[in-house]
Amino acid sequence: MILPRLEIDLDKLYHNASTLVEKLGRRDISVTGVTKACMGDPKFAATLLAAGVRRLGDSRIENIERMRHAGITAPITLIRSPMPSQVDQVVMHANVSHNTELDVISALSVAAGKAGVRHSVLLMVELGDLREGIMPEDLEAIARRTLRFPHIDLCGVGTNLACFNGIAPDAKNMRELSRMADHLDRTFRPATTSITGVVSGGNSSNLPWAISANNVGRINNLRLGEAILLGVEPLNRTSIHDLYNDAITLFAEVIETKIKPVQPWGQRAHSPFEQMSKNHHNGTANQMVLAIGHQDIDPAGLTAQRDIHVVGASSDHLIVTTKGSTVRAGDEIAFQLDYSALLRAMTSPYVTKKFQQREGANRASAHSLDFVNRIHKKFA
Ligand SMILES: *Cc1c(COP(=O)(O)O)cnc(C)c1O
Repeated sequence: MILPRLEIDLDKLYHNASTLVEKLGRRDISVTGVTKACMGDPKFAATLLAAGVRRLGDSRIENIERMRHAGITAPITLIRSPMPSQVDQVVMHANVSHNTELDVISALSVAAGKAGVRHSVLLMVELGDLREGIMPEDLEAIARRTLRFPHIDLCGVGTNLACFNGIAPDAKNMRELSRMADHLDRTFRPATTSITGVVSGGNSSNLPWAISANNVGRINNLRLGEAILLGVEPLNRTSIHDLYNDAITLFAEVIETKIKPVQPWGQRAHSPFEQMSKNHHNGTANQMVLAIGHQDIDPAGLTAQRDIHVVGASSDHLIVTTKGSTVRAGDEIAFQLDYSALLRAMTSPYVTKKFQQREGANRASAHSLDFVNRIHKKFA
């Protein structure tokens, strides 16, 4: 079989997505299925929709266009602020976009007018992680201006935590988002009814809060990627109960296997990549070289099965050691991936993606686009 390759088990991803949809549904929180780590792959998107995800989200318009061209008609949100240079594509293919800048919303309005469509805007608020977001004190003024654009609907507010500074979603910042939604309603409801229809609390890092909170307040949506793909909650990197952690496996091929000294020799200067673990003993090890590298994966995010230990990588060589010595050139080694390794592997054109569906006709037809588009007409 072709190597290196990612094997993506759509049945396990279906299980993860439907389990999360059900768990959060009990708290009246809907799930936006985030497709960016799979570059908007239509098979992944269709699996999410079949599992009960009501809308899709992606950070790149190119991925959204890929899903549209594959025939996916479900609502899709662009979850990164649009580039002003891409507003024409955005209003054509995304129903909603996340926004923080009036200049961008203004450009979206012009583009929507030109295209003869309406475009919905979800305003993102900064709550401490210092990535995207309107400062809370500016939200009312920006909402007021947003409501005046002729081709724009304001459909909600949201926030994103954890992704940049690791700030945890908690009762306090989620309560603050709820309060802002209430405030916008009180201020603008007479003029417009759907202004805070969506209150999107965040990403996979919000799951511990969402599942354990006494009261989720106004939060009625989460945008989930990593939790579905890897079955983990990113803040503490712990497995989520009832979810598969092994839906995706990477296979790479051994191209050298030798007994070598653990310590390098010669005069030491810089190498292009920091190596992960410095081994201090002086013996020898069974070292293997695999044909995959930084161009395709983040070596720090790989966990091998059995007694194989990842030492580090260069652009296209991955170095591992093993206590056993039965591995030979041509053998394949399996790895589980963290989000960083997964993202890079999915994006590398050198890594083949093999989507698998083991279950029979029923599930296969549940994944078909026809079926998915039919259930979405019902929800529309
Ligand atoms: C990537 C992203 C998500 C999804 O994050 P996961 O940790 O994969 O669940 C949600 N919202 C925004 C704005 C994002 O950029």
